[in-house]
Amino acid sequence: MLIALLGLNTEELRALVREEGQPAYRGNQLAEWVYRRGARAFEEMTNLPDTLRVQLSEKHEVGHPLVVSVRRSRDGTAKLLVEMRDGARVETVGLPYAGRFTCCLSTQVGCPVGCVFCATGRSGYTRNLTAGEIVGQALAVQEEAQNRSSQVDKGSCRVDHITFMGMGEPLLNYAQTVKAIQLLNGELDIAMRHVTVSTVGFVPGIRRLAQEELQITLAVSLHAPTDDLRQRLIPNMVKWSVAEIIDTCHGYVQQTGRRVTFEYCLLGGVNDGTAEARELASLLHGLNCHLNLIPYNSVHGLGFYNPSPKDVRAFREVLSNAGIQVTQRVQRGPDIDAACGQLRQRITGPAPD
Ligand code: SAH
Ligand code: SF4
Repeated sequence: MLIALLGLNTEELRALVREEGQPAYRGNQLAEWVYRRGARAFEEMTNLPDTLRVQLSEKHEVGHPLVVSVRRSRDGTAKLLVEMRDGARVETVGLPYAGRFTCCLSTQVGCPVGCVFCATGRSGYTRNLTAGEIVGQALAVQEEAQNRSSQVDKGSCRVDHITFMGMGEPLLNYAQTVKAIQLLNGELDIAMRHVTVSTVGFVPGIRRLAQEELQITLAVSLHAPTDDLRQRLIPNMVKWSVAEIIDTCHGYVQQTGRRVTFEYCLLGGVNDGTAEARELASLLHGLNCHLNLIPYNSVHGLGFYNPSPKDVRAFREVLSNAGIQVTQRVQRGPDIDAACGQLRQRITGPAPD
């Protein structure tokens, strides 16, 4: 089996070329081709000697995932369906802002957590992605953005913010997610402070992440202030109570000195009442955190509905009156099935029962 170069850092690429009997600086040139220029073939690497290119191609492969479908929203959001070498497909989203891009990456093919309102969760789980496959999605978004822009704008088409909010649960693919963060930072120059990892609240993963000393933002998808409600929405995470998750977040803030973000997906008539808002306010009281309300983007056939704007306003008001810093996610790309897992479902068909 060929080893992918995408996924190795500059140091590892330097070691690799040395093993091939070449000077280490050739490894820096390789990194430039793989990460900065997005090379898809060894023949493109014109400043490397032919012998090295042939040697490398015997045991290695190069190139990021292929884009098999793109949907573009009127607001500029692009949703890509990308295909890995084994045919596995995941979604990646590019969100433009001020000439730059935020890229929303997937970490798994499907998701084993199975949240009942999430299209990805309902589509089953195939496998973890490798760090190279995760980083490759950012390269695919960058390539797509550059293809779209004029020659003059090309320089500004740079992905410079990353959210791990695509398909899958990043902390259930821990090692590859952390490696991907390091590659994004070290090879693509994305500032750690511009990286957000969103987790469904997998407590052992949050504890482990607190030890890494990464200056990233942790976002915890809470969605419910009580165990009963949370268990109904996220049936495969019952092992950790809401209290335990909040307690772990206190520990995370203490250890890292970084504020935690909570995500709360507002599902019409399910978790969007003012009673839940009051319970949530008392849970978050005294914790250095920020709450991001996400009005549900309804997925056909799952039986959940968008909240009414009036209920969203009332929910938000209870929390801000209680002194919680709260924002509401602006819906991007509503015309292109932008909710997690929807595009793959549309192209590939719904999940089997
Ligand atoms: N598995 C991680 C990260 C991916 S999901 C997590 O659950 O946090 C990223 C966010 O999108 C989560 O907060 C998730 O609950 C939310 N989400 C999933 N489907 C959604 C939908 N249809 N509408 C709005 N938010 C959704
Ligand atoms: Fe997985 Fe996150 Fe979707 Fe839940 S919301 S099924 S954890 S991707």
